[in-house]
Amino acid sequence: MAGLLFARAGVSVRVLEKHADFFRDFRGDTVHPSTMEVLDQLGMLERFLDRPHDRVQGAEIRVAGRDYTIGDLSHLDTPAPFIAMMPQWEFLDFLRDEAEAFPGFSLTMEAEVTGFVEEGERIAGVRLADRSELRAGKLVLMADGRSSLVRRLSLLPVTRLGAPMDVLWFRLEKAENAGDKLRGAIDTGRMAVLIDRRTYWQVAFLIPKGAAAEVKARGIEWLRGQLQALFPEIDLSGGLASEADLHLLSVELDRLDQWHRPGLLAIGDAAHAMSPIGGIGINLAIQDAVAAANVLAGPLARGEDPDPLLPQVQKRRELPTRVIQAGQRAAQNNVIGTVLSGTPITGAPLVLRLLDRFPRLRRIPGRIIGLGFRRERVRSPAA
Ligand SMILES: Cc1cc2nc3c(=O)[nH]c(=O)nc-3n(C[C@H](O)[C@H](O)[C@H](O)COP(=O)(O)OP(=O)(O)OC[C@H]3O[C@@H](n4cnc5c(N)ncnc54)[C@H](O)[C@@H]3O)c2cc1C
Repeated sequence: MAGLLFARAGVSVRVLEKHADFFRDFRGDTVHPSTMEVLDQLGMLERFLDRPHDRVQGAEIRVAGRDYTIGDLSHLDTPAPFIAMMPQWEFLDFLRDEAEAFPGFSLTMEAEVTGFVEEGERIAGVRLADRSELRAGKLVLMADGRSSLVRRLSLLPVTRLGAPMDVLWFRLEKAENAGDKLRGAIDTGRMAVLIDRRTYWQVAFLIPKGAAAEVKARGIEWLRGQLQALFPEIDLSGGLASEADLHLLSVELDRLDQWHRPGLLAIGDAAHAMSPIGGIGINLAIQDAVAAANVLAGPLARGEDPDPLLPQVQKRRELPTRVIQAGQRAAQNNVIGTVLSGTPITGAPLVLRLLDRFPRLRRIPGRIIGLGFRRERVRSPAA
């Protein structure tokens, strides 16, 4: 998205991707209304929605066997008031196709960055796995995810906030159509989320941090039994042949203390790894890209030095990151940690009971999840 926006402003952009394609299953498929607002501002929303996707408008959670409706996005005043569930490769293919319409954009696959070209204090380019060197005219934008090179090479300091859980993602066969809701379920010692993907269930099963090997050793049928106990009314007997079908998300919650240094800026997961709670990782990364382009694309297109402007991007995006991480941390410690520690769950907290009782209240979590905090609007120029 950053590459697209900079190229749209007339900046020459080279995007380097280490993989040969974008095909990675279970890398989060939740495209929120905030992201679709950005696509709408760019005139790309219709084409995006032409791609295969499912729509989620509400969320239900089951606590100790009783169902509570807790979220509603349908009332949001936004062009797409739902979560579009679209595989991440599809979304990235879409962004690439749109970006390629701008003459300054180029994408090189199988181009792994392994280091940086430094000129004194300044980052002046990157080194690639094939030992070649690529000079950056003005800026190296690091959008290389939670294992970013800026972390591995200790280029920028990180604060780790910790997480009590990891997540196993997998598919189960789906017998009947069960609507467009996202269903969570919590009971003593276990917690899971089922997402209706029309032809299959996408399942997130939460486990204590570091317990993946132990849980996998209990076997597939144990896992199926846990899920079936949470959702006894749904037939979950099909699919999931072996442990190889379980995808581990090692949950991290952290952020860089400083997102930039001369010649370099980190955004997205590289700047802040988010917990999966709320499914906002993609959307926050997109908001960072929009903010970075708003601050930098115009000056870069005019050939100006971006270095004095880099702190503005962090200043703009750090507060929303901190606010969301604080909410995720509270949910991790007060709800998920408690459940996974085996504390008996006897009923739902007051807030869930209120959301279930008063439908208008459900719009509040819908708004927070769907539109986020400090929404970015595309202000970067179109050349
Ligand atoms: C299992 C899992 C499930 C998730 N579920 C959700 C979800 O439901 N909803 C949600 O919103 N978020 C989810 N997330 C988080 C979401 O995927 C990230 O927040 C989001 O993708 C961040 O985008 P990004 O562009 O910053 O980084 P990434 O998407 O991680 O992209 C980084 C890219 O850089 C490439 N790269 C990395 N290093 C190099 C290098 N040295 N040289 C060249 N290229 C490199 C990578 O191959 C990758 O394509 C999930 C993450 C995981 C791992």
